[in-house]
Amino acid sequence: MGLTGIQIFKLLPKKNCKECGQPTCLAFAMQLAQGKTELSKCPYVSDEAKAKLAEASEPPIRGVVIGTGDEQYKIGEELVLYRHDKTFFNPPLIGVLFKDTEDDATIDARLKNFNEVSFERVGYILKAHLAVVKNESGDAGKFTALLQKIKDNTKKPIMAMSDDVAALEQAAGILKGTKGVLYAATEENYEKLVDIAKANELSLVLKAPIEKVAELTPKIVEKGFKDIILDTEARDAKTMFQHNTFVRRLALKKKDKAYGFPTCNLIYEMTDDEIKEATIAALAIAKYGGIIVISDCKPEVILPLAIQRLNIYTDPQRPMVVEQGIYPINEPDENSPVIVTTNFALTYFIVAAAIEASRVPTWLVIMDVEGMSVLTAWSAGKFVADAIAPFIKKVGIADKIKHRKIIIPGYVAQISGELQEELGEDWEVVIGTREAADIPAFLKEYVAKNQ
Ligand code: SF4
Repeated sequence: MGLTGIQIFKLLPKKNCKECGQPTCLAFAMQLAQGKTELSKCPYVSDEAKAKLAEASEPPIRGVVIGTGDEQYKIGEELVLYRHDKTFFNPPLIGVLFKDTEDDATIDARLKNFNEVSFERVGYILKAHLAVVKNESGDAGKFTALLQKIKDNTKKPIMAMSDDVAALEQAAGILKGTKGVLYAATEENYEKLVDIAKANELSLVLKAPIEKVAELTPKIVEKGFKDIILDTEARDAKTMFQHNTFVRRLALKKKDKAYGFPTCNLIYEMTDDEIKEATIAALAIAKYGGIIVISDCKPEVILPLAIQRLNIYTDPQRPMVVEQGIYPINEPDENSPVIVTTNFALTYFIVAAAIEASRVPTWLVIMDVEGMSVLTAWSAGKFVADAIAPFIKKVGIADKIKHRKIIIPGYVAQISGELQEELGEDWEVVIGTREAADIPAFLKEYVAKNQ
């Protein structure tokens, strides 16, 4: 169990010097106990106290890194039960199952989908993340052959799944250097599998009934291994929901280190119905899943799951923004129209997509209004004439065009007169469309009139 604030306080130097950013040592101790600060911020902690406090200064849920390079992900290290309290940090990995009983043609087609199904939304790539290779046949040769084939044909990380320790040992050799995952250690075999995972720098799923986890994870940690992921053997939606919630609450509220690990949910074992599977996977994304394994990588399943994953793991207190600046779309030149709008990411992507669809070369000028949409920024006094005019003069769009016309969103038509005044006689303010969907027609007509 983690230490309480008072227990931590007893180990601190009690100088009350404020160098840690807290008014007193007691305040620092309380923050540390809640995982809201780091021990390294106090320069006066003795080595002896450091060793005792190390446990308390660790995140309440272990962060486990999976994969390498562009396909490296971290799961765990969450600090809150509810995203409105702070935010969720490390989204779950969507794993796709491959079985060594499937024929080559099926594996090839599914592997192609696994590698290629992806969608871009507001600048993020939505896709599946983890190949889960299962030794369904019981034949270690078939299993390792499939594992090798998948490893050779994807950059994404792999979880090797077998009941056979010897097969997993061979799998670990294949996955060495990939930061993949072994599934699964059990009460019977964990000692051997921990050694294998350690030697090959892989993480390890512990498969055990939820009440056994408290007994087994400390034993694994004692062996010097912490990259543990928990499969609490929930095999229906309700039990999974309960177990994931118990694990998160025990780790965060009770500071129970034995449960301070990310979870693994085998959704494909919970139902044969594709729609139910997607629904349960969505539940796991919303409620504390770490690795979520589904049976296939169909676009119509991956898209909604990945959107949900993105939405739930976006900080609710920080709007999604794009950088202020000039964005050339469709290779504009000095005669191309100029559209100005705000840096709310959704506004940018919708407007940019509409301009792209129009095929009209256009300069899109994005103004930083702290991520607000057009109307919200206008009502907050941030997207108004006396803010837009100096921005337009400063941003450098005048150096890229011969004309002096800017198109503003139709929703702020009321500022056109004042903006005209602020910009001066050289400029002409044109009122654009209210809806992005009308931009293509508007731009085509605008260009025809202005040529
Ligand atoms: S820096 Fe250390 S000694 Fe100083 S107030 Fe913070 S906890 Fe106390």
